[in-house]
Amino acid sequence: MEKLKKSYETLKKSTREKKVITTTTQNKERKKLIGDIVKEIANGVCQLCNQPAPFVNKDQRPYLECHHVQWLERGGADDVYNAVAICPNCHKKMHILDLEQDVKKLEKVANKNMTSFNEYKKS
Ligand SMILES: [Zn+2]
Ligand SMILES: [Zn+2]
Repeated sequence: MEKLKKSYETLKKSTREKKVITTTTQNKERKKLIGDIVKEIANGVCQLCNQPAPFVNKDQRPYLECHHVQWLERGGADDVYNAVAICPNCHKKMHILDLEQDVKKLEKVANKNMTSFNEYKKS
C-alpha cells in the first residue's frame, strides 16, 4: 500500500500542477493505479457480492476487476471515490444490467474506499 500511496500523491500533484498535458498513456497509468488501490482495499473479496475472487492471477494475487460506479463514459471520475473492486461476474452484471440497487450499493462502497484510503494515507 505504501507504494500505491506514493504514486497517488504524485498523480494528484501532477494533476494540480497541470503542467503535463494529459495523454492516453497517463490516463492508462492512472486507471491502473486507481484499480490497484481499490483492489488492495477490497483485499480479495468482491465488493458487490462479497464472495472471494474466483481465482488468483499469475502474481498470486486475487483476481478482481476495477469498476467505475459512474462510468467514465458518462463523465464519472477516475478516482478512488468512484471506483470499486468486483469479481468478473459482478462486473459483467453491472455493465449488462446496471441495476439501480447495485449502483446505490457500490456508491456507498466507493465512498468507503475513499475513507479507507484516506486513513491509510494518514498512517
Ligand atoms: Zn462479485
Ligand atoms: Zn466497469
